[in-house]
Amino acid sequence: MAREKILTAPAAADTDRQRDAALRPKLLREVVGQQKVADRLQIAVNAAKKLKEPLGHILFDGPPGLGKTTFATVLPNELGSTIQMTSGPALSKPADLLPFLTNLETGGILFIDEIHRMPRVVEEFIYPAMEDFRIDIVLGEGVNARTINMKLKPFTLIGATTRSGMLSGPMRDRFKMQEHLEYYTVDELARIVAINARKLDLPMQPDAAVELARRSRGTPRVANSRLYWVRSYHAGYPDAAEGPVTAELARRALDMQEVDRDGLDKQDRRYLETLIDVFGGGPTGVEAIGATMNIANDTLTDEIEPYLLREQFIVRSPRGRIATPRAFELLGRMPPKPNGGPATLFD
Ligand code: ADP
Repeated sequence: MAREKILTAPAAADTDRQRDAALRPKLLREVVGQQKVADRLQIAVNAAKKLKEPLGHILFDGPPGLGKTTFATVLPNELGSTIQMTSGPALSKPADLLPFLTNLETGGILFIDEIHRMPRVVEEFIYPAMEDFRIDIVLGEGVNARTINMKLKPFTLIGATTRSGMLSGPMRDRFKMQEHLEYYTVDELARIVAINARKLDLPMQPDAAVELARRSRGTPRVANSRLYWVRSYHAGYPDAAEGPVTAELARRALDMQEVDRDGLDKQDRRYLETLIDVFGGGPTGVEAIGATMNIANDTLTDEIEPYLLREQFIVRSPRGRIATPRAFELLGRMPPKPNGGPATLFD
């Protein structure tokens, strides 16, 4: 069971990521939403080009699928430079960073995803690289150890994290810009869906794009994955209509996939069912929910909970997660009474 969990979750994420890459905007002006972030980046890019300086180091944080990697990959296109990509868990020791740092060209970008998972030794190794574009390499051991100081070409580090709170203070302070990405509005997601439907040569009516957007958990990555499903449904379902995707067809496709009218999918509902039916609505620690659902705690806190929190299906308390009346209503369960009941919002 545990093994199955470990194998299936990343596999699903991989196909999503490959599809994402195909639909990713290439330039800042193609990016929809996150307007203030995009505006600030445009200024930084213009300044870097005019002053002929590398862009300052940038940290993006926010829930998965909101565009951290997208912004990172757009920047080298804007600057006419190159990008190398790695991630915190892949960098277990300073030597793992060396090839990236030494391959950097002047003004190049090094992107580190999940930077909060980079071990402390690597973090400390990277500080002088960020500050002075140099690294200290220790050769040999014990009394024979020597430190060589190596100069690097001026570059830009872009970090992405779903947990900015887990990043150390010194690491965070070394980023010149820190940009937080927020969930998208239905309107913004509908624009993204319409653009991506065109990229996929899928004719779609505007209200169908809105229907998909409403049911995408505020997240472009989810919108893309819903769009791919609707495309398959449109092409493959026996009595699916000819012609463009209509709102009705989009609705049927998403109903079939068990995505509900709020955009929650089976996994989201299973979370709420566990919290309500097993734990009486909470308060319950995330570990207990994870163990019952057989899902890693990180997946719960990084991928499932942020949207449920934002939409107030759950709230966080010092004693754990609590289901709100909205969650009880969604599942058709009787909400507990405010004074008494197994769990209330205010106990
Ligand atoms: P993150 O790195 O935050 O997990 P990504 O940058 O990989 O998220 O975004 C997932 C996908 O969503 C992208 O590949 C892209 O297709 C789409 N996307 C994200 N942000 C935007 C945006 N602002 N405009 C258009 N598409 C976007």
